[in-house]
Amino acid sequence: MAATISTGATELRDITKMERIGAHSHIRGLGLDDRLEPRTSSQGMVGQAKARKAAGMILKMVQEGRIAGRAMLFAGPPSTGKTAIALGMAQTLGADVPFTMIAASEVFSLSMSKTEALTQALRRSIGVRIKEETEIIEGEVVEMQIDRSLTGATKTGKLTIKTTDMETVYELGTKMIDALSKEKVTAGDVIAIDKTSGKVSKLGRSFARSRDYDAMGADTRFVQCPEGEVQKRKEVVHTVSLHEIDVINSRTQGFLALFAGDTGEIKPELRDQINTKVAEWREEGKAEIIPGVLFIDEVHMLDIECFSFLNRALENELSPLVIMASNRGMARIRGTKFRSPHGLPVDLLDRVLIVSTSPYSEDEIAQIIKIRCEEEDVNLAEGALMVLTKIAGDNTLRYALNLISTAQVIARKRKSAQVEVDDVRKVYGYFMDEKRSVQWLKEQQGQLVF
Ligand code: ATP
Repeated sequence: MAATISTGATELRDITKMERIGAHSHIRGLGLDDRLEPRTSSQGMVGQAKARKAAGMILKMVQEGRIAGRAMLFAGPPSTGKTAIALGMAQTLGADVPFTMIAASEVFSLSMSKTEALTQALRRSIGVRIKEETEIIEGEVVEMQIDRSLTGATKTGKLTIKTTDMETVYELGTKMIDALSKEKVTAGDVIAIDKTSGKVSKLGRSFARSRDYDAMGADTRFVQCPEGEVQKRKEVVHTVSLHEIDVINSRTQGFLALFAGDTGEIKPELRDQINTKVAEWREEGKAEIIPGVLFIDEVHMLDIECFSFLNRALENELSPLVIMASNRGMARIRGTKFRSPHGLPVDLLDRVLIVSTSPYSEDEIAQIIKIRCEEEDVNLAEGALMVLTKIAGDNTLRYALNLISTAQVIARKRKSAQVEVDDVRKVYGYFMDEKRSVQWLKEQQGQLVF
């Protein structure tokens, strides 16, 4: 079994990662200069200078591979940028360094044990950079079309595909690569793939641009192969995570499970075999371990079993940097009757580097609101900005930021291109913040079901 361990090179390297983190889409990095000093406002980041600098220092150590097996905790009130800074760190890491983000509550699921969920998250955060000899294509890409809506190609014959339907992408990508490596087609040819039968047929080079395109059934997909020579045996370097290697080699799962997102439990024996194999590859100079980052949001939601598991996992040779975030002060450690800072057991706290975040000044809040307006294409009147800033100060920054797009809907309704004070007032009335919601609940006691 160990000898046939697959790295999933062909299967995985062509899939573009997708971002779905709307509220933080303006964050493009930590906004630090070369000496790791935080710029006042840069890469979408404003204020929180100390925490950003600390994050930058830790990041440097991650990049130099000097910090595996360590943990860090962002502690601070709600909406003070803990998640934003973690995402800024993720953006700064190279594409090769894995960054995994989970909310602690995700660990509790019916489909797998807590420790399995944590193990998978930890192994997702460890990259294995592998050198392999493969057949690839070199040359300039002229055009590549897959069903018109999916486009892109690189010099190595790699598909860069933008779509939400991962199964289709995977199917098409591997079939194209398959066809190329078997030399059924040559570079520059257009190939058609029948989605149902998987039959690959060769078409004329100008086909993708011709009208015949429409005549083929809806189930046919087209790929134009990159121009250039098919070169046999070339060394390529690619990075996959340990978790991906686990899943690809799991007999019950298979690599398609990666795209479905539901990978189920993986047997410990398989993981042992993979660890041994990866160690062999390292010794032979074929692979290199890249410790990445695992970010656990709302970490106080983990329970004592998870904490002791994490504590032990951090000592493992194959451990990523674990970053946690919590907005709790003294809290009960789940699964015990004891209270401790941030709801974390003392022995775990002891090994953690704690970085605190603090509330923003009015100026900083106004700047963040402006950045979000730019990001959301909202034209905010000066007065409306002042009102939103005040709302953020009285409630949370997140609540105020949520009002931006809703206020824009109101402004549009009255056919105005600018969001005015009245628009903000209206949405403030429509959507309650936490404080008013609690107050309302108190007033309704007796009427609601509790
Ligand atoms: P919680 O404890 O409630 O999870 P948090 O500390 O993780 O809160 P975030 O979610 O990071 O807070 O911040 C709330 C919103 O404010 C997000 O949209 C975030 O992108 C934005 N934000 C926070 N801090 C900054 C900052 N320093 N610069 C720019 N945007 C920020």
